[in-house]
Amino acid sequence: MNLFINKIYRHRYDIFFSSLLVLLIGLFCFIIPKNETINVLKILENKTFDIRQNIISKNKSVNKDIVIVTVDDPSYEYLLETYGDWPIPRSVYAKMLDYIQAQKPKYVAFDLLFIKNLKRIPKSDDELIEGFRKYKNTYTAINFDDYSSELRNPPILSENIKTNVNIDSNNINIYKFQNCRIILPEIIEATSNVGHINTPKEDDGFLRTIPIVVNYPQMNKDNYYLYMTLKLAIDYLNKYENANIKDVRIDKNNNLILGKRKIPLTENAEVILNWYGPSGLENGKTFKYVSFWEVLKSIEAKNSGTKQLIEKDFFKNKIVYIGTNIFSLSDIKTVPTSKYFPGVEIHATLLNNILDNHLIKKADLKYNILICLMLMILASYTAFKIRSVYISIMLFLILNGLYLYFSTYVMDKYNVWVWVVVPLILTVFVFVCSYIIRYLIKSRDFEYTYKLATTDGLTELYNHRYFQEKMSENIRLAEKNGSQFSLIMIDIDFFKKFNDKYGHQAGDAVLKHVANTLKNNVRNEDYVCRYGGEEMTIILNNTNKETAINIAQKICNAVSAKKYQLTPDLEVNITISLGCSTYPENGKTPAELIEYADKCLYNAKENGRNQVGFINVKNS
Ligand code: GH3
Ligand code: MG
Ligand code: MG
Repeated sequence: MNLFINKIYRHRYDIFFSSLLVLLIGLFCFIIPKNETINVLKILENKTFDIRQNIISKNKSVNKDIVIVTVDDPSYEYLLETYGDWPIPRSVYAKMLDYIQAQKPKYVAFDLLFIKNLKRIPKSDDELIEGFRKYKNTYTAINFDDYSSELRNPPILSENIKTNVNIDSNNINIYKFQNCRIILPEIIEATSNVGHINTPKEDDGFLRTIPIVVNYPQMNKDNYYLYMTLKLAIDYLNKYENANIKDVRIDKNNNLILGKRKIPLTENAEVILNWYGPSGLENGKTFKYVSFWEVLKSIEAKNSGTKQLIEKDFFKNKIVYIGTNIFSLSDIKTVPTSKYFPGVEIHATLLNNILDNHLIKKADLKYNILICLMLMILASYTAFKIRSVYISIMLFLILNGLYLYFSTYVMDKYNVWVWVVVPLILTVFVFVCSYIIRYLIKSRDFEYTYKLATTDGLTELYNHRYFQEKMSENIRLAEKNGSQFSLIMIDIDFFKKFNDKYGHQAGDAVLKHVANTLKNNVRNEDYVCRYGGEEMTIILNNTNKETAINIAQKICNAVSAKKYQLTPDLEVNITISLGCSTYPENGKTPAELIEYADKCLYNAKENGRNQVGFINVKNS
């Protein structure tokens, strides 16, 4: 127990500083506005996600079976020229669908909204509706929104396009929409391959997640709708991987269960996309694009028997997305790897992610906390244990560098998103604080060693060595400044006898008391030292002879006036003899000054002790 208390006592400063630190962190966390801090941290963390995505997407390749037919700028120009305005008659899509389906693609998905009350041309619409009826591997989109029912009555959607979702999780918050844009109802009657295409952006305008399941309640009943590409993916897995998926289930850990596949969802039933680099439009590395106008020209060529622009059987066994990629048609997003990312390519990315099981999963909170703790321990270890500052800073930087590498590696290999910002902030914080503590401890140790080297253990006065140092230093300063200083030498009277009579311990106690009396009678800037045995000295800075003698006399009186209670009924007196010398009049070296004061002291002893001695008194 004693040992334990001892240990605590020895480490009291460390414990004090560490507690102070914890208190400060606590206070800091308490003071700063929480929501805003969390928001800033989230934005920064998202940025690190983007950087990691940019790095890892360089090594990825896309599924070559996914191709995109896009309404690009030249196509838009071509369509405006041919049909006068946008949107174009739906029979154009119907013809395109016939052309593509003739080549036996796996799937065709329109990332386009065939809005009911937008450019209705009944005959033309019928052709497209017929296409949906004919080709069961064709998909299209609806869009939900939150417009008020005053503006537009929320339409009742037919049962066939919704999906049963069994939810085992009680910590999932599926986004609820209040309203819906009505698409041609005949399409919904013709096919159940209709999914939503809502893609909300994050606060910083980036699109990183897709709400893969949304809720559009009607008559107080939850109705779940899947993202168009999820519907397509389920059909793909059922057909090509015999997955036998009927209903969709979200398990306790917020995974969407698709047969053997587990799709990790966020608490808002979103998936975090894993990107394949910048848009295929930018460098052609990702999904293969063909222009809408090229397909239209190929259709014309096919009909007239001339050479088609698009190679024969280009769409065979492909999954074909048809969408737009121009600003004027407003389906361009900013994503982690690209500033201009067509909405249609987001579908392609999601499908590719699902088929390859590549969706990003955020690491559990407990693992993130564990990582933070480990990094903090390592950071404080480098700060405390590595002697060289440079090496410890280097190691610290390497530690952080390795962690950044690790965070990118696990995202690349295991599709796991571990925190970067919070761990790095904490490690820097811990490292800096550890360094501060390290220096506080060091300076305290230095102070302690310095005290040990300069003071006398018994009396706590300065020791002989320090006295000699100060004498030399004072002479140097006095010489330089033309000033003077004095020295008093003190010797306890009949101390040998005192020891013999009352014992050494009583002698020691008296020594301490005398030392205290000396200290109490001089200024802070004076040095009271133990010269040796029961002899003591005082260096009085900037003091002339007369003042020194007065102080010596005052001390002599103070010591003799004090009574020492040795035992309850024994009270004794102690007296001292003193001698003074002053620089420069009595000597110009430490030895001369000591000798002079010593002579005075000797005279005081000769003259009966308990007094200040003088040389001229004896001489006269
Ligand atoms: P005087 O008046 O002539 O100075 O007589 P004195 O007995 O004091 O003679 P002297 O100065 O020669 O004796 C010094 C004595 O001081 C010897 C020793 O017993 C005692 N002494 C020296 N250092 C210590 C100490 O640290 N503790 C104790 N208790 N006694 C000490
Ligand atoms: Mg002596
Ligand atoms: Mg003595």
